Amino acid sequence: MIKMDFIPISEPNIGDKELEYVTDAVKSWWVSSLGYYVEKFEKDFAAYCNAKYGVSVSSGTVALHLALVALKIGVWDEVIVPNLTFAATANAVLYTGANPVLVDVESDTGNINVDFIEQHITSKTKAIIVVHLYGHPCDMDRVNEIAKKYNLFVIEDCAEAHGAEYKGKRVWKFSDISCFSFYGNKIITTGEWGMCLTDDENLNQRMRELRDHGMKKDKRYRHAEIGFNYRMTNLQAAIWCAQLERIDDFIQIKRNNTKLYNELLKNINWITLPIEKGYAKSTYRMYTIFVDKDKLGMDRDTFIKTLKENWIDSRQVFYPLVDMPPYEQFWKKDELKISNQLSYSWLNLPSSTKLTKEKIEFICKTIIEICKK
Ligand SMILES: *Cc1c(COP(=O)(O)O)cnc(C)c1O
Repeated sequence: MIKMDFIPISEPNIGDKELEYVTDAVKSWWVSSLGYYVEKFEKDFAAYCNAKYGVSVSSGTVALHLALVALKIGVWDEVIVPNLTFAATANAVLYTGANPVLVDVESDTGNINVDFIEQHITSKTKAIIVVHLYGHPCDMDRVNEIAKKYNLFVIEDCAEAHGAEYKGKRVWKFSDISCFSFYGNKIITTGEWGMCLTDDENLNQRMRELRDHGMKKDKRYRHAEIGFNYRMTNLQAAIWCAQLERIDDFIQIKRNNTKLYNELLKNINWITLPIEKGYAKSTYRMYTIFVDKDKLGMDRDTFIKTLKENWIDSRQVFYPLVDMPPYEQFWKKDELKISNQLSYSWLNLPSSTKLTKEKIEFICKTIIEICKK
């Protein structure tokens, strides 16, 4: 077999355009949180997602926190979150003093199982946070039906789903506020950074004030409430503006890579391939397979190690929140069985937009060789 360089799980795709824009931002001397690119970033991303307002912030985590504070969620409140997500989703709830309520996920997408939401709702429940895991949208019509019935806010954690579509519309459209991350391993990146989208003028205004120390827009140094410094910089926005010009190409590459992986791995009986539901256009932020350890004769983590010895990076998915000390107290009624099963059997294979066809063929060939042994 041909020898390859180590193939990373994901790498940012930064090119000449990014360099050109960031140089321009440096030369403009607008390096802080005001400047041409910050404004352009907010406007362009809101337009891309068909939202009225975009509020840029310094990370995806603080985007979630800002959204919750803007919706006045706090001590004694409860917020529904999926048990299988990056911990930031639950942490943001805890920062406000509210409690996350953990709900199990679907076995095919890993997204929150809408069938289980209603049984977790109490008189304290204020909101549902859904996470479009690895770029596959949740079933938003059903989530919103429940939210309407119980008068709850909906927040979409879109950190992994820029450009993903639900019934032909880009995600974000299905919530009061949606939150994006532009961390280094997301679909488009500017290192760190985040954004809240909303159609509501009041929420927009409130989030703008809260991210800027709670200062009134028209009265500098006049603080109406305790705010934060959640602003981002013009330098990062410059990189981001170049990334946005390439987002549709990145998504297409990820979809093509998925197709190729699926084709090459389809006959392996211990692998379950990722799915795309009828209502969804997934961005496949990560290419994720389910490993049946009994059929493979090796557990997932040994398989990860074996891949690494063959120069291929791969990664376990998130631990179930309920399995970790800060969150175990938020276990309610059901067994959270599926999140547990997925967490210990799912595997991310290299998913970078810089992957070549040869590299994907090498990865799949190596996988087939490993299971022969
Ligand atoms: C990455 C991620 C976040 C946090 O974003 P940061 O920009 O790293 O703070 C939140 N939720 C999910 C689902 C994520 O994948």
